[in-house]
Amino acid sequence: MNVASTRGIGMTSARTRERLMARLKEQGIKDAAVLNLIRSTPRHLFVDEALASRAYEDTALPIGFGQTISQPYIVARMTEALLADGMPETVLEVGTGCGYQTLILAALVPTVYSVERLGALQLRARQTLNGLKVRNVRFRHADGGWGWPQHAPYGGILVSAAPAEVPAALLAQLAVGGRLVIPVGSPSGQELLLITRRSETDYARKLLDRVSFVPLVGGLE
Ligand code: SAH
Repeated sequence: MNVASTRGIGMTSARTRERLMARLKEQGIKDAAVLNLIRSTPRHLFVDEALASRAYEDTALPIGFGQTISQPYIVARMTEALLADGMPETVLEVGTGCGYQTLILAALVPTVYSVERLGALQLRARQTLNGLKVRNVRFRHADGGWGWPQHAPYGGILVSAAPAEVPAALLAQLAVGGRLVIPVGSPSGQELLLITRRSETDYARKLLDRVSFVPLVGGLE
């Protein structure tokens, strides 16, 4: 898939994108496929026009409704960790937001299931990805704390909002051998965890990073 945009800021931002690449490598991102995708993905299409000139900075930006588009470093880190052990057939994403992380996953994984609790954001993400001719994402307006049981088990689960504790439903919907990448904690301090399901009952946890995500909130809006 070539999603490099030739419109406006997309062309003029080539140098900023290369600076972003250098920064991600400096911070330890190694996966060439992930780096290339972040370079070629038109992040400016996911933010308000007034912020488009900042779209290739390594920073989170507001996307409305009190939410933010994830920082490119975090997207790269989570994607790299999720896929490090081989390519899953299906990934469940909790917290679609603007759909930027969704697009990166969709370029790598055969099928992405993406859940968002805010209907307005979900609709916008769906429209943006449709506009980019992305066809392998199924969207759902739902509370992702409950996962998406119909399509479980998932080879990978990626969560973009932080619960106080890992939701049991997500652990249950992870395939044996599958990987769950999730921020856990309170707004004052969160840990990004990689949880690997080693057997029906055995889950291994690894600390990846200290992070700052919006909280995982229950219910729909
Ligand atoms: N990766 C996204 C991150 C958006 S911020 C991006 O780059 O745009 C996190 C998102 O998680 C928000 O859109 C928020 O509404 C959503 N969210 C929070 N709690 C949720 C829940 N219980 N179920 C589904 N989505 C949730």
